[in-house]
Amino acid sequence: MNILLVGAGLSGAVIGRKLAEAGHSITVVDSRAHIAGNCHTERDAQTGVMVHIYGPHIFHTDDAEVWDYVNSFETFMPYKNRVKTTSGGQVFSLPINLHTINQFYNRTMRPDEARAFIEEQADTSIAEPQNFEEQAMRFVGGALYEAFFKGYTIKQWGVSPTELPAAILKRLPVRFNYDDNYFFHRFQGMPENGYTEMVARILDHPAITVHLNTRFTRDMADDYDHVFYSGPLDGYFDYELGRLGYRTLDFERFSYEGDYQGCAVMNYGEETVPFTRITEHKHFSPWESHDGSVCYREFSRDCEPDDIPYYPIRQVKEKALLAEYVALVEQTSGVTFVGRLGTYRYLDMDVTIREALDTADAFLAKGTDLPAF
Ligand code: FAD
Repeated sequence: MNILLVGAGLSGAVIGRKLAEAGHSITVVDSRAHIAGNCHTERDAQTGVMVHIYGPHIFHTDDAEVWDYVNSFETFMPYKNRVKTTSGGQVFSLPINLHTINQFYNRTMRPDEARAFIEEQADTSIAEPQNFEEQAMRFVGGALYEAFFKGYTIKQWGVSPTELPAAILKRLPVRFNYDDNYFFHRFQGMPENGYTEMVARILDHPAITVHLNTRFTRDMADDYDHVFYSGPLDGYFDYELGRLGYRTLDFERFSYEGDYQGCAVMNYGEETVPFTRITEHKHFSPWESHDGSVCYREFSRDCEPDDIPYYPIRQVKEKALLAEYVALVEQTSGVTFVGRLGTYRYLDMDVTIREALDTADAFLAKGTDLPAF
């Protein structure tokens, strides 16, 4: 069959590869001038630093099959994500761990002492937390909430934490040991030559043709037996019901001769600092050596029509609009909506790959009877 894939990000590349290997003829279009979607990496011409163009991307997963998959296309170097945060004139370790707690309270508590101490700080008068703020106060109390959650959340989402659901903090966001590895997953690493190199290898198959700088229009579908669409869900329908809300990011890029902050990601929890974090890209490739440095100050705001959609907002209003678009999707044939934009969800890279592999398998089993969503 002739198959069109809209988007040369991980979703499009992984589905395309699997279907190409099964004998289908694959065309991939992407409106951007490069492949790899939001995972795109590029070497800075002056310093040689590998830059994560759309913000920091760390690969982490518990899915052994997905880990084997990415390793079959690229060497993954050992990498642990260790995030710091600046708050109240001090630098702390995140996620909040025993070091953070002892430093913050100027104590030398053991794990069980710290656990009892944090329980004393928690606001136990809140029996049933109704929002993110109450949930955080219930878990860690006012001081840690103010220093580490409040300002960052306001800057990231542009709303008061009292307007966000309690479910964002599902469990106690504190570790009572000195483990400062941000992710719990079994497998974690960084592609030696960047994500774009990996995606290029995934797309490197004789049955795959890629057209960059090519925006999908619905009439293109007429030339194909099936379309997999990883662009924005509302965009497919020309936004006829309105726009699904996203947060977008602005990156203020600057260079530095030497080492600017000593780590890849430094958060800024205070509301008085307008950016959420600074990323220093060379620390994502600790096996490389560069004198110069490339850094991004990251600002978050509501997405306007011409901006890049980053984080789906998925509050009550957006979920209602999503349901209306899903009703339209259900009346649509010949297309399957995939990936973070096509399904309007935040998806980590490993989940994106898992879903793409499963979608391709389902297509190979059911053919064009595959559900649209
Ligand atoms: P995308 O990468 O967005 O690809 C979609 C492609 O479709 C794009 O290239 C776009 O140009 C193209 N497109 C859209 N509309 C059209 C159209 N009409 N015509 C043609 N082409 C079109 N995941 C992790 O696992 N670890 C991380 O540390 C991590 N960090 C992240 C940080 C940020 C700031 C963000 C926003 C995401 C992060 N992610 C991370 C998630 C990761 O970016 C996604 O999992 C991944 O990009 C999803 O791939 P995708 O192919 O579904 O979407």
